Amino acid sequence: MADTKKYLIPVYGLALMACGNNVRERPNVIYVFPDQFRNCAMGFWADEEYSRYAGWLADPVHTPNLDRFADESLVLSNAVSTCPLSSPYRGMFLTGMYPERNGVTLNCMALRPESTLSPEAVCISDVFAEAGYSCGYIGKLHAETPMKNDPANPGHYVSDRNPEWDAYTPPERRHGFSYWYSYGTFDVHKNPHYWDTEGVRHDPHEFSVKHETDKAIEFLRNENGERDADAPFFLALAYNPPHSPYESPEDCMDEDYGLYRDMTLSELYVRPNADTTLSKAPAARYYFANVTGVDREFGRLLDELERLGLKENTIVVFTSDHGETMCSHGTLDPKNSIYTESFNVPFIIRYPGRIRHRVDPILLSTTDIMPTMLALAGLEDRIPETVEGRNLAPAVLGNGEDCDIPDAALYIRNLDGEKDADGIVHGIFPAARGIKTGRYTMEISITRDLKPERVLIFDDLKDPYQMNCIPYTEEPELFDGLCSVLERKLEEANDVWFREGILEKLMLGPGDTSGNGNR
Ligand code: CA
Repeated sequence: MADTKKYLIPVYGLALMACGNNVRERPNVIYVFPDQFRNCAMGFWADEEYSRYAGWLADPVHTPNLDRFADESLVLSNAVSTCPLSSPYRGMFLTGMYPERNGVTLNCMALRPESTLSPEAVCISDVFAEAGYSCGYIGKLHAETPMKNDPANPGHYVSDRNPEWDAYTPPERRHGFSYWYSYGTFDVHKNPHYWDTEGVRHDPHEFSVKHETDKAIEFLRNENGERDADAPFFLALAYNPPHSPYESPEDCMDEDYGLYRDMTLSELYVRPNADTTLSKAPAARYYFANVTGVDREFGRLLDELERLGLKENTIVVFTSDHGETMCSHGTLDPKNSIYTESFNVPFIIRYPGRIRHRVDPILLSTTDIMPTMLALAGLEDRIPETVEGRNLAPAVLGNGEDCDIPDAALYIRNLDGEKDADGIVHGIFPAARGIKTGRYTMEISITRDLKPERVLIFDDLKDPYQMNCIPYTEEPELFDGLCSVLERKLEEANDVWFREGILEKLMLGPGDTSGNGNR
């Protein structure tokens, strides 16, 4: 087939090009997503071109490669991680479906066997593979429940940790990824391990970000048949840093730590909502060191892409599964909250000659990623019916008039459902739902007996650090309007809050005693 194509294009090139996308060479796609990399941890946000979209200060980080990449890319200022937690993010990114449909409702581990990527779900990689792409996955998967399927020790988990978190993914559950170099979840940054395409375990004893970038570069060079040389490729690269641990110089590279070692806490923490008296405060040094480590390796990947002549025809995305609160809002939980530091994620996309450099506040949600990426690669016709997100490719390409741009993004927080006598979790407790609009953030959380727990409303325009919660009882019109948007988003998502009428049952707001008919 490839030979025929090579022969045809020079002879009939013009006629074929006129036929449209079917014969146009498909772009490669590289999707890089370090874990827990917050949006403000990129140096370019300090520049006026970018900062006027953000409203908050950039962390004092050294990210020269991301800064250079941003200057060639579309930078989204308002992309969010719909359910800002490792596994639910991955389920949504891979399927374009909400957690209740793709199966990944909670962080995957052995006590939550129900939370696992449905083998039947059609993933982005299934579609790319079906369209002729070579698909590779490198790094942290964390979208499947651990099973007793250690290739080297059949009938056992991959380690003796109790409960088990790590996992091996056998070929029949790899969803179109024909090149594999991955693991479930494991948090020792300088002693990572992986199972390859054949199920052989590797323990390289080096910084995981460097090692995975080496593997990604091997995939690009294709010297050992990592991919089909005649086909376009889709490569997902899932670094674990700057995820915790970030407690000592052992958790990062010395060359990166040196940049932050002598900074005081007041120099490290520029956000006025950060409490530097928290025990976690010194973590910023190691967290930022790993931000810089990720930046350096990402830069090495971009350089190799260019050296190989692949830059022009490759779509490159840099994003993350969620952010990191890092002492903001007085919480020690780095994620799984609607606060900007957790919910807002980097989303930088480069497609030379097709996507114009700019900053854009498009409210991209996690379920929108799969249809948008497929459409950008010219595979709009192949977006499966199971996808629940929106194709925002027209907006990304700058043709917003061809596209219904979202006016709000949904937020989901689930916690464990009931636990049985063995500690096994059954179902979910849908602890909170919320929205972000162009201006406001609102979250409503509930108690286990379905009573209101807390309502958070922030004016992100006037209060970008979310330090002044607007009491919902004091701004009834605002609250009512935001509840209407939330109800619509819950319905669009066919969320359990919509199906069980939870928002109405809470009897919040000006209709406190007189019902909620106006919502
Ligand atoms: Ca994560």
